[in-house]
Amino acid sequence: METKQFKAESRRLLDMMIHSIYTHKEIFLRELISNASDAIDKLYFKSLTDDKVGLNKDDFAIWITADKDAKTLKITDNGIGMTEEELENNLGTIANSGSFKFKNENKLEEDNQIIGQFGVGFYSAFMVAKKVTVISKAYGSDKAYKWESEGVDGYTISEADKTSAGTEIILEMLDDTDDENYSEFLDQYRIKSLVKKYSDYIRFPIKMEVSHSRPKEQSEEDKEAKKPLEYEDFIEVETLNSMVPLWKKNRSELKEEDYKHFYTEKFYDYNEPLKYSHISNEMPAYNALLYIPSKAPFDYYSREYEKGLQLYSNGVLIMDKCADLLPDYFSFVKGLVDSEDLSLNISREMLQHDRQLKAIAKSIEKTVSSELKKMLKNDRENYEKFWGAFGLQLKYGIYSDFGMHKDKLQELIMFTSSKEKKLVTLDEYVTGMGEEQKYIYYATGESIARIEQLPQTELVRDKGYEILYLTDSVDEFAVKALRQYKDKEFRSVSADDLGIDTEEKKEELKAKEEENSDLLKELSDALSGKVAKVVLSQRLRSHPVCLTSEGEISLEMEKVLNAMPNGEKIQAQRVLELNPEHDIFGKLKAVNESGDKDKLGKYAKLLYDQALLIEGMSIEDPVEFSNLICELM
Ligand code: ADP
Repeated sequence: METKQFKAESRRLLDMMIHSIYTHKEIFLRELISNASDAIDKLYFKSLTDDKVGLNKDDFAIWITADKDAKTLKITDNGIGMTEEELENNLGTIANSGSFKFKNENKLEEDNQIIGQFGVGFYSAFMVAKKVTVISKAYGSDKAYKWESEGVDGYTISEADKTSAGTEIILEMLDDTDDENYSEFLDQYRIKSLVKKYSDYIRFPIKMEVSHSRPKEQSEEDKEAKKPLEYEDFIEVETLNSMVPLWKKNRSELKEEDYKHFYTEKFYDYNEPLKYSHISNEMPAYNALLYIPSKAPFDYYSREYEKGLQLYSNGVLIMDKCADLLPDYFSFVKGLVDSEDLSLNISREMLQHDRQLKAIAKSIEKTVSSELKKMLKNDRENYEKFWGAFGLQLKYGIYSDFGMHKDKLQELIMFTSSKEKKLVTLDEYVTGMGEEQKYIYYATGESIARIEQLPQTELVRDKGYEILYLTDSVDEFAVKALRQYKDKEFRSVSADDLGIDTEEKKEELKAKEEENSDLLKELSDALSGKVAKVVLSQRLRSHPVCLTSEGEISLEMEKVLNAMPNGEKIQAQRVLELNPEHDIFGKLKAVNESGDKDKLGKYAKLLYDQALLIEGMSIEDPVEFSNLICELM
């Protein structure tokens, strides 16, 4: 028979399993039981709408059989089973379910942490077994197959005998060593306690033949003679788990640990969640467990990420990722919802229009929103962690759907502010505003360090006003969608009117512009096609120039929009601002008066290029720029 090789990643995982530290090994049982339960879930769900399955709820079970003499442990289920192809795909490679993703060349220590905290699936069997045999028959198929492997060397698949659908996993346990005792996993008390510890909530009975001993009946004479009791063994089938799902248990029975454990195991995240809530709602009636992860999944901000909550109807899993239960801006929430009122044999399309489901979704959204507000208020440290992981998503939420959800989200967003370089909420910003400050000021740039250097911020900063630093590409779009917060309008530090200068100052600037209209015209002619106009600036202090824009599109938005694939090329209306108090401005005046138009044109180009560089934009002709510098030096 042909021995097939494992895919590279699977080999590494196997290797990791085999070398894991002993204390983690016990979780293999939990993993195999969970798989069995998932497989039963699938067939049970089918049975509800398909009489051909021929099984009732009570017929489904997981069996554990330990044979101390043969040193084997068997886990059997009557679930959906696997076809030959599925055996090959599911067990020959690591399932794509996200159960495991290699991050980097994991060190052994990290591996062990992963194994300890998080579901690693079927392969964990190799932590305790020298050989694993899987005999499976898929529901609806007339053939059964056997998958066998002794670890990293590969596996074989062959036909097998099995009459009913389901899967049987046989572990040939490793030999005991001085420090590692594998035969304890064949001990009925050990097995019972492991099931209680890890798999108590599994919804199908986990059964095992348990042997007990009882005193033999004594004859009257023996009793009289006070003979010692004799004992006899007998076998009894026991159900080892209580089968109450965690979310249906009483909150008072549960510890933080239980919730966290359930999360790491069920949602394949080895980081503990930042927050969880256990909800029992009456109108609409549902139970839910909701979690906010502490880190964004690696694919979170990509198209691959699928949002959704698990949906159960009265304890039966009907959908693994029900997207309709979560709005996009809360797509980071993980968890499950169980409602008694949902109809089971309802198609996915119909589910979308289900009124009950809509009501639940609404209620969940409210809960998430109020939990986040609570966290912001009472647990700032964790909220900032949350913000670091998922803030971007909330900002997208404000801007998407034409700003439809902004009212719900505006209290949750944060930006770094100029005052202490700390995150502030809009509420905190507005509360800190002095009476004379008209606007909420913001500045955009690729990083905080870059923004701090922007000449445009000088005047606002001089006034002692706080500036919000917008460093994500979505930020300015979000701020534009908001327009205002608590009656205070947002205003870019590059805006035309900063609302700072008095009428008097404005008049003064106007007069200066008139006085220098000839110079300004010469400069804008020299830069025609590049800038819409050249003006005297009111916002500069120490810098000679800066670049701003007029109209709806800012320079930062231009950068973002042009970086989008297939986006139309968009140009902001650029404005070159000159500092009339700067020495350079005197120079320009002198050159203009001397009538050397050629030189003035060169100065104009240089200043424009400088302004571009300060903005973090690229200059059109770097060679010309460098030649001009040399020439003028
Ligand atoms: P995960 O359970 O995280 O997907 P596993 O490595 O544990 O990863 O299992 C891989 C896949 O093999 C499962 O997704 C499932 O499709 C299949 N599988 C494992 N055990 C069983 C079983 N007892 N019955 C049916 N299919 C199973």
